[in-house]
Formats: sequence, C-alpha cells, structure tokens
Amino acid sequence: MSRVYDVIVIGAGPAGCAAARTLAKSNLSVGLLDKAVFPRDKVCGDALIPDAYHALKKLGLIERVIDISCPVRGMRLTGFDGSNVLVRAAGACVPRLKLDELLLKSAIEAGAEFLSGHEFARIADEDGKTYCVEFFNGNDSVIARSAWVLLATGAAIKPIQQAGLLLRAESRSVAVRQYVRNERLAKDFNELVFAFDRTVKGGYGWVFPGPDAIFNIGIGFFGSAHKHSNPRRAYEGFVAQLPLARDLIRDGTILSPLTGAPLRTGLAGARFAKGGLMGIGECIGATFPLTGEGIGKAMETGMLAASAIIAQSSSGRGAVAEAYTQGIAGLQPKYDVYRKAEFMFSWPYLTNKLVTHADNSLYIRTKVEGLFNETTDPAFLLTLSGWRQILFGSGNEVQNVRPKDRIS
Ligand SMILES: Cc1cc2nc3c(=O)[nH]c(=O)nc-3n(C[C@H](O)[C@H](O)[C@H](O)COP(=O)(O)OP(=O)(O)OC[C@H]3O[C@@H](n4cnc5c(N)ncnc54)[C@H](O)[C@@H]3O)c2cc1C
Repeated sequence: MSRVYDVIVIGAGPAGCAAARTLAKSNLSVGLLDKAVFPRDKVCGDALIPDAYHALKKLGLIERVIDISCPVRGMRLTGFDGSNVLVRAAGACVPRLKLDELLLKSAIEAGAEFLSGHEFARIADEDGKTYCVEFFNGNDSVIARSAWVLLATGAAIKPIQQAGLLLRAESRSVAVRQYVRNERLAKDFNELVFAFDRTVKGGYGWVFPGPDAIFNIGIGFFGSAHKHSNPRRAYEGFVAQLPLARDLIRDGTILSPLTGAPLRTGLAGARFAKGGLMGIGECIGATFPLTGEGIGKAMETGMLAASAIIAQSSSGRGAVAEAYTQGIAGLQPKYDVYRKAEFMFSWPYLTNKLVTHADNSLYIRTKVEGLFNETTDPAFLLTLSGWRQILFGSGNEVQNVRPKDRIS
C-alpha cells in the first residue's frame, strides 16, 4: 500500500523543513522523508546571518532559535594584513544538530508527517498529475504518491541525478570545520570572525562562537581554489597563523575531528523545476558563492516553492513551476555578484583595502553592513565607482571609527 500526500518533501534540512512547515500550516498533507535518523549532524559553520534571521522570523521561529543559539553583535572581517572591521548585523551561531532538530519539530508540529531512515531512490511521473516516489527503508521499498514533490537533499549529487534535475555534478566549493571548547575565551567573545589569510588562498577561515563555550573553527575555499588545495593542510596553517584560533586550540579542548563537505553554490548546476518537481536549498546551489552561507537561502527557497504550490496549484504544474522559477530569478543577481566578487577576495591587496576602508569610512562600512543585511545592492562591488571607493576611499568619506569596535 502506498502513502498518499498533497506534497512529498525529500530531505529534512533547513530547506525541507521550512517548506514542510509552510505547506502543513496551509492545511496541505505533507510527507517529509529523510534518510537520516534525527537528531543528525550536518557539517557546517553553524552561523546564522541576517537572511537566516529573516527566514526564521517568517517561519515564526526566531525566538525559539535564539534561545538555543549564541547571538553575536556582528561580523568581524579580518584582512590578509591583520586589518579588521566590525560589521554590525544580526547574527548567531547554533550547532546544526540542535537547529535542524528544532526545524524538524516545527514542521511536525505544523502537521507534516516525518519518516526517518527513508532514502530516496527514484521518482516517476505516473499520468502527468501524480508522482510515484520510491524510498528505501533498510531493505524495504516504500512508495509514496503526490501531485507535488520538493527535493531538498542538499549537496549530495546522487539524489539530484535520480530526480533528473542535475545539470552539473561538480561542486564549486569545499569547507572543513572542527569544534573546540574554550571557557576562558568564550566569556567576552560575541562576534562571527571571517578571516582572510594566505594559508587559505582563494577562500577564508572562520571562528564562530556557539553556545556552551564551544567554537566552530573552519576554512573554506570558493571557486576553483579547492581543486588545487588541501583543506586539512590549509586548516592547520590557518589555526597556526591566526592568533585567536591558535589560542582557542592551545588552551581549549578539541571536541571533534576535522570534518569536511562540498558545497553547491551560485544557484547553478541543477534545474529549479521540472513539472511538479522542484529543487530547493543547496541541491539547486542556493548556498552563496564567496561566503558559503546557505542556511537562510535554503529556508527562503523552501518557502518560495511552498508558496508557489499554495498559490498556484489549482492552475497546474506549469503555473507553479513558473511562480517558483520567478521567485528564484529574483535572487539570482545577488548570486552572480557574489560569484564575481570571489575573484576580488582572492587578491590580498584588494581585500586589505576593502577592510581598511570599511574600518575608516562610515560610508564604506555602511555599504558592507548593507551587504550582510541585504539592504545594499551588492552590484557596487563590481562597478567602477565601487572599486574606486574600495581602493582609494570616497569623496564623501566620513572618518568614524568606534574605538570599542577595534581589536588590537
Ligand atoms: C563546512 C561547511 C560550513 C558551512 N557553514 C555555513 C554557515 O556557517 N552558515 C550557513 O548559512 N551555511 C553554511 N554552510 C552551508 C550550509 O550547510 C548549507 O547551505 C545548508 O545545510 C543547506 O541546507 P539544505 O536544507 O539545502 O540541505 P542540508 O542541510 O544538507 O539537508 C539535506 C537533508 O537531506 C537528507 N538527504 C540527503 N540525501 C538524501 C536521500 N537520498 N534521501 C533522503 N534524504 C536525503 C540529508 O540527510 C539532510 O538531512 C556550510 C557548509 C559547509 C560544508
């Protein structure tokens, strides 16, 4: 006997749970299936940036997430030469083990039926109206049917291929991270640190403070840099080089091995929709190039697909796919700029100039804050006047350094 739902959501990460919660709240029957048994970990930096805050607010979950996370006062950008600036924006760090468990609970509370240990195997379009989806639960085959299917399986290639959405198998980035507890340094530390360093050329390293004095330390490469690099060696170089990371590890306790995962970025590499089947989250490359942040946009794309189904399902597959694709198209320009900006941040001279000018100039700092807060058009990073401001400072520059925002 097969299970029948209005919508099947495959994958219960941030994308799948955001979609399932939204759909279930609209009284649609939702089957949310994941191959993992929860709570499950996901290799991640665990940082929530403003777009994740916005998405969590929209889902009605921000207070619950703040309760289990370590909120920060902003993002500290550190240049290759040690120059640094605090960019004020809403942010937090919360282990994915806890975040994803909360998101899953919220989808179940809304009415979604969750089946763990169910690995997606194949999908067939039965009659142009209904999909038949097969999962494996151990050795058992489980069949589910629905009019709409959302694929939310993250960066893994196989399910995207099995769903027929894959355009390019290659992932564009790779990142590794480790957990370290340090009670002493956790006391007054409330910033997400993004550090550019020669040990991670073509990428950056991070130090994110989470709850219970546990820091998430990692490095990631963007663009093609990872093809020529060894992430483990880069991580070791980075933690030896950055004083903060060095101190954290020297008198802290290492809680986990160094673990890595690929990232699919740039809204590229997969079809967004094919009939009533839509990809959401990292499987369609919804993770940002340059920064590798993707939790916020995973939830946002999940909500976009859910809204398209809720609003357009009576008009048929074409209308739903069109509404979803248009929603995604609204996000595309930002991804394109971030991808091009990867080039700029692989040049130490340009990165140092940007960090220094952001520290010295209220005008540039406001622009950078706007990037994180999604209130500035990121295209300024690619315009001639934008480059002039980054390289030389601008005519309307206002010296406004907040001494307490500096680190020595
Ligand atoms: C090292 C690293 C650091 C990162 N740091 C950050 C950060 O600090 N902040 C940030 O915003 N983003 C970060 N990211 C990116 C972030 O992890 C992703 O953007 C985000 O997890 C994407 O969410 P998702 O729901 O699309 O996919 P996922 O979170 O990957 O969830 C996919 C789900 O699908 C399930 N699944 C997979 N295959 C199948 C199958 N065949 N059948 C059934 N279920 C399946 C998985 O078990 C999983 O539960 C980082 C990534 C890496 C690798």
